[in-house]
Amino acid sequence: MKLPLLSTTGVGSFPKPDYVKGAKGYLDDDSKVATEEFIRRQEEIGIDILVDGELYRGDMATDYARALGLPLSDWTRSYDNRFWKRGIVDAPLERKEPIQLEQFKYAQGLTDKPVKGMLTGPTTLSNWNYDKHYGDREKLILAWADIVNKEALDLEEAGARFIQIDEPAIAERHWEGELFRMGLDKAREGVNTYIITHICYSEFPMVYSRLRDLPVNQVDIELSNELDLGLKSRLLGMVKEDPISNYMDVAAGVIDVRPGIPVEDVDTVVKRIYTALEVLAPKDEMLQRIWIKPDCGFRTTKDPDMAYKKMEVMVDAVRKVRTELGV
Ligand SMILES: [Zn+2]
Repeated sequence: MKLPLLSTTGVGSFPKPDYVKGAKGYLDDDSKVATEEFIRRQEEIGIDILVDGELYRGDMATDYARALGLPLSDWTRSYDNRFWKRGIVDAPLERKEPIQLEQFKYAQGLTDKPVKGMLTGPTTLSNWNYDKHYGDREKLILAWADIVNKEALDLEEAGARFIQIDEPAIAERHWEGELFRMGLDKAREGVNTYIITHICYSEFPMVYSRLRDLPVNQVDIELSNELDLGLKSRLLGMVKEDPISNYMDVAAGVIDVRPGIPVEDVDTVVKRIYTALEVLAPKDEMLQRIWIKPDCGFRTTKDPDMAYKKMEVMVDAVRKVRTELGV
């Protein structure tokens, strides 16, 4: 499949419209309507690789626990200051039925453009659910990885052209880099589809040197604040010295998705893209390794209209840069 240079994409989530009540973890009539609306809007805006918006999703770790039939904990405060019930692993993990397959098939069935298949990664599932059974990090991560692997094989068979394995928890135990890599390796065993891993809310300089060893085709990272700092950013300094794009494709976050951050103007985003290219694509042939996207899913932006405006600005900025570069 031929993709344009500086392909545009999303990271995953989108704010739920008011008519989507509750967070069930599976598609119901309301989240189907919302998914279709979101797919259409992405097509209109001109996004190249679509996401389904996760409008059915409760929490990216708890949904898996529920699907596996794990007992749930009491309310637990999560990284974004919301409360969830976490799964309790009290027996060997076993997948009863596909968890994310129907959601992918539904979204991909709505459009000819590629839609990413979305999975939660083994380290994040291990960190955000409790373990009373394995008592050993490696065994726990590999057991979750086996579940994720079954999911990935299902998505591949269903025709997914891109599979994203979300690992926001990468830096919570940055000393477990090798386990993190092993988890992803197991998760993609036998899968030939292009694999992306999205990582976020990290102290990236702590994990940067390990990213190149990840068994993925693309790493997807948030960068908008670093790009505004320019080479004063410690991370960008590290990237310039040894671009991760020497080893794999990179999706660079150029839109800030945090709540209350106003819609950026096109020129701000153009500037961020050029700064990203300066460090990630010092040679012209590296341009094809770079995708452009928001820092993270838009769920945290809360306001769907604002999120759509941010997507429009991102696409306008990419078009401007493509024209200026003559690509
Ligand atoms: Zn994220």
